[in-house]
Amino acid sequence: MPDTKIIVNDTTLRDGEQTAGVAFSAEEKIAIARALANAGVPEMEIGIPVMCEEERETILAIATLGLPASLMAWGRMCDTDLDAAASCGVHIVNLSIPVSDIQIRHKLGRDREWVLETIPCFVKRALDRGLDVSIGGEDASRADQDFLLRVVEQAQAAGARRFRFADTLGLLDPFSTYKRISQLRDATDLEIEMHAHNDLGLATANTLAAVLAGASHINTTVNGLGERAGNAALEESVMGLHHLYGIETGIDGRHFPDISRLVALASGRPVPVNKSIVGESVFTHESGIHVDGLLKNLLNYQGVDPEEVGREHRLMLGKHSGSKAVMQAYAGLGILLSGLEAKALLARIRDHAVATKRAPSANDLKRFYLEAMPCRGS
Ligand code: MN
Repeated sequence: MPDTKIIVNDTTLRDGEQTAGVAFSAEEKIAIARALANAGVPEMEIGIPVMCEEERETILAIATLGLPASLMAWGRMCDTDLDAAASCGVHIVNLSIPVSDIQIRHKLGRDREWVLETIPCFVKRALDRGLDVSIGGEDASRADQDFLLRVVEQAQAAGARRFRFADTLGLLDPFSTYKRISQLRDATDLEIEMHAHNDLGLATANTLAAVLAGASHINTTVNGLGERAGNAALEESVMGLHHLYGIETGIDGRHFPDISRLVALASGRPVPVNKSIVGESVFTHESGIHVDGLLKNLLNYQGVDPEEVGREHRLMLGKHSGSKAVMQAYAGLGILLSGLEAKALLARIRDHAVATKRAPSANDLKRFYLEAMPCRGS
């Protein structure tokens, strides 16, 4: 179990924005960076400077805000990308280089030796420009593990600070992640950052496994935004570390709903209602058995206290409701029901739920009441 704090490096503004069809405006990027820093996110990857002049200006504008967070830019391991990164005020650059044979051969047309020779050369150039360096091992999950050990050795000897293990295609499971990161941890003193993708729905699980294996940093995105199925979600990773292992990140979960809304709006990617932590419905209860249990004692059906993440329990009336919930809902409207009345109204509420696929509004409830008990209406 790691005894030090885990550093979250949120990449909503880089890999999050890399999602097909997503493009943030400068104002949106600045607002998201402010919100993340305000929540206590200690580090963020804020863009790809070489992309265009406007991107460079936005990165520079964020750097000028003086946020209490370390700022990273992303680039390939080449001079144009390094020059662009060095010109926009960030503290650390992630220089990405493919490390799997398939990408080294078929994307770069190079070989492993070329990769090993190129790394120290660019680490030195970045250090000379006053930047800290993370070596981004693209497609690390498909790389030969012995070769990866040589990569981190070269990176450390050259003066890099960090190695990013990118499961670029989201192919790992938590067990293989644990094994791969443990071996790297034993082989190097570099910071190790886990970059997980969610193609098999395992991004958060793999991120937690990497931390248990000794990763010091994790790369996350708000709402799990990111290429294809996305990256490890910030909110899931932070709450997972805290609840499962007592590992702190210094991030205040009460900010998650606001940040989630901000990113959903700016990305045009609405959050699914059942998305962990931030989904609209994840603290909403309808089932009669669960609602009865919650009304007796919240702990009967509460895993995560919604207050920790700026939310609250909501009870919803529907097909699976019981009379206790009906009585409680009507009491909230100032109408005290007998058990028999609640049963009668429950039948009406069930019909409504089946017909409309939604919860009755306060007005619906009042109308049901007047229809069922006309003489008691005033
Ligand atoms: Mn990625």
